[in-house]
Amino acid sequence: MNVLVINCGSSSLKFQLINSESEKVLAKGLCERIGIDGSLTYQPEGGEKVKSDKAMPTHTEAIQFVIDALTDEMTGVVKSLNEIGAVGHRVVHGGEKFANSVVITDEVIKAIEECNDLAPLHNPANLIGIRACQKLMPGTPMVAVFDTAFHQTMPEKAYMYGLPYEYYEKYKVRRYGFHGTSHSFVSKRAAELAGKPYESLKTIVCHLGNGASICAVENGKSVDTSMGLTPLEGLVMGTRSGDIDPAILEFIAKKEDLDIAGLMNMLNKKSGVYGLSNYLSSDFRDLSAGAESGNKPAEIALDVFCYRVAKYVGAYAAAMNGVDVIAFTAGIGENSDIVREKVIDCLGYLGITLDKEANSKRGEEVLISTPESKVQVFIIPTNEELAIARETVALV
Ligand code: AMP
Repeated sequence: MNVLVINCGSSSLKFQLINSESEKVLAKGLCERIGIDGSLTYQPEGGEKVKSDKAMPTHTEAIQFVIDALTDEMTGVVKSLNEIGAVGHRVVHGGEKFANSVVITDEVIKAIEECNDLAPLHNPANLIGIRACQKLMPGTPMVAVFDTAFHQTMPEKAYMYGLPYEYYEKYKVRRYGFHGTSHSFVSKRAAELAGKPYESLKTIVCHLGNGASICAVENGKSVDTSMGLTPLEGLVMGTRSGDIDPAILEFIAKKEDLDIAGLMNMLNKKSGVYGLSNYLSSDFRDLSAGAESGNKPAEIALDVFCYRVAKYVGAYAAAMNGVDVIAFTAGIGENSDIVREKVIDCLGYLGITLDKEANSKRGEEVLISTPESKVQVFIIPTNEELAIARETVALV
């Protein structure tokens, strides 16, 4: 079956058409600037990437262009819509309502809407994508795959904040966690690579991308993760602060005359390694080059990032009373040997030893710990689209 995987943002839409038997990407692309002017980038398997400007007042036009490209006589990869068996939609927040992926029905759409409050920037955009697909592909089954679902197995002690209980009861203020599709995909693959049963393994997945989170997976279940009610908690990220003393907010608000929107903008867009590096860059290639050429803020940013990752790994080894496997994934985790080395340098007490030569590889599955290491450490490229396609096929 061919599955169309859709990741819909407020003004963008990423897509991949994946054949579920071969697990090959038949075509992929991106619609940008939806509602502004519009452009479509489209690349069929083995073909050229082509970008063209197209008027996209709404997501419906964007999806129509995607369908047109996929079925085009010259560059298309299927003859008609009939060759697309299902659509898998990434949905950011499933609240406490969704612990698994689901086939989309009217009730499911209503329940996703009820989670909009928890992810006001993301869920409404995801729903727009779902509705546009339903309009253009009536009769094609659709599945929602939630970023939060994998973490619904966290115990209360991991997901409750030290806040008045009434806020949990009234507003469901608790930790949810994100990147669940990636943590699930990578932890399963880690068990396969380690040659051990997923159901009896303690794994820590470090998903280190522009957004970054860590997850403790015990016996196949997420038992803790670093992001919280929103994706702002936890690690220091590209431009997001991660954990800070909440009292800093009042202090900075007064000093800089910021309101809540100004504070949130600072925490989400001007902090993280970008803010730490004195606004040099949020990209680890720039930071590594900066640090190498003696830029002190860049060096500090790298150190703070890696130290925070190492602290979370330590915390999750404690949460699971041990760890068998650690996996690095996403843009930084897969590509930055410096980051992996700096993190692992802090983990000698766990009996971990790094194979420096293996660690110099990037973007491929590789064991980077030595044979003597008490914990196996892997680089495992994540593939959220494939994970969504697999979930979709399993449900339809
Ligand atoms: P992601 O959000 O998973 O796409 O990760 C994007 C981030 O990965 C970028 O902002 C970079 O910081 C990082 N990244 C990508 N390629 C490299 C590389 N070759 N070396 C170091 N960092 C990289």
